[in-house]
Amino acid sequence: MILPGFTGSSHISISVEPDVSQSTITLSSVYQLDLLPLFDRFGRYTCEIPLSVPTRNGSYTSKVSLECSYVPRDAEVILGSDWISNSSAAFCDDGSGLEDPPMSVTLSLPVGHYWTPNDDVQTLDNDSTDIDTMLFQMNSCCNDPIFDAPAFFAAHGMESDEVPLTREDVLSHFLNGQCASRKAPGCYEVARAVTSPVKISLMITEAIVVRCGRKQIPLSDLRVYCSAIGVTTTKRPEHTFLSQKLKTRCNTLRPLLNCDGLETTLSGIENLGKHSLQHLSAQHEVKIDPENDIDSARTSVVDHITSGGCQASSSSLCISIDNEYRESDAGANNDLETYILQLAAKKTKLTKKELRRVLKSKGIEFDNSEGIGELRRRLRSYITALRKGKQSQWSRTQRAESEFERRRHLNKIREEWPQPASMNLKENCPPLQRACASSLVPVVLKA
Ligand SMILES: [Zn+2]
Ligand SMILES: [Zn+2]
Repeated sequence: MILPGFTGSSHISISVEPDVSQSTITLSSVYQLDLLPLFDRFGRYTCEIPLSVPTRNGSYTSKVSLECSYVPRDAEVILGSDWISNSSAAFCDDGSGLEDPPMSVTLSLPVGHYWTPNDDVQTLDNDSTDIDTMLFQMNSCCNDPIFDAPAFFAAHGMESDEVPLTREDVLSHFLNGQCASRKAPGCYEVARAVTSPVKISLMITEAIVVRCGRKQIPLSDLRVYCSAIGVTTTKRPEHTFLSQKLKTRCNTLRPLLNCDGLETTLSGIENLGKHSLQHLSAQHEVKIDPENDIDSARTSVVDHITSGGCQASSSSLCISIDNEYRESDAGANNDLETYILQLAAKKTKLTKKELRRVLKSKGIEFDNSEGIGELRRRLRSYITALRKGKQSQWSRTQRAESEFERRRHLNKIREEWPQPASMNLKENCPPLQRACASSLVPVVLKA
């Protein structure tokens, strides 16, 4: 079975062979692709290349270390059990290709290994450099005495006249995934087409956890990273407990991947645990009273979303949802509130429990015995009323605007209307011209 893969933008044929232990590339492809083989400590030539391997509806991407093989083969690259175990790849039942990995696998792939569905394959290739670049910049932010913080802030659109920005702001910017969905060149360079701050935040935190496990991040750096996002510990060994806390952060963030987009923003909130919910409300900049129970916290977050509150907020998650809306077909209407409610009223979108929450957040009355169809009908009639209200509000604004415009025009005419000539001028005029000058008709007088 030969799969059509990619390395960078070049096509490359790939064969996946579980009984081969070391993945290889043929020497002729090494020359064709102009790769530089390195002589490793076992006396073998190896190449490291970014490789994209297709599955049924997506593809794996990772940097793969390949041994150069002198033996001509059917495929240019042979992926052996080393690659298979890293990517947890499985063959389709009919043996025609590779199966798409289940969600549990895609979320736990080793660092540098990704799988994404076909519609965003292009962003995928950049994902690995994202994390590497972010980690590199975080590292130099901590350790490089000549790290150019002002240049960083400028590149990431973080300039501020009022609050002096610190290196800690650089770290929290990355760790909170704030590069997502921002047009600033520094942000775009690392986030590429990944628009969810939750996703970036999760990816970078996971990468740090993995590197902690490999003892690649010294305690001094880890301490600074953690304190930038308010994570501290008094327990010893400090390194172990901090990395444990970051692992917990990943577990808190992961469920939010189900409610971080425009279409999915209302789904899954009912199932979020307390910590995930707190994280979500912080991401939406919704202040939750710690005294309040989890139920009213849910209602507050849902109320923010269903009121189109994301349009008025400057948090990364809200910006990414609003951007997604603006770039959609409906974006021209600039009415996120109605759009999100319409999505909620759609069949198969929300569960009964989730729909009830939406009604509750809008103060729409309903009976607990009502079925999901009835709840949807209530929401739809609310939307109709809301739209009418918006219409009349719109016509009120329109009327006020045209009245203002009319007055402005009138004042302009009044101001420009010729003024009566001065007495001095009248006295110096010959009689005939004087008659003209006394009227309000403008007259050009020759000196
Ligand atoms: Zn950024
Ligand atoms: Zn929001």
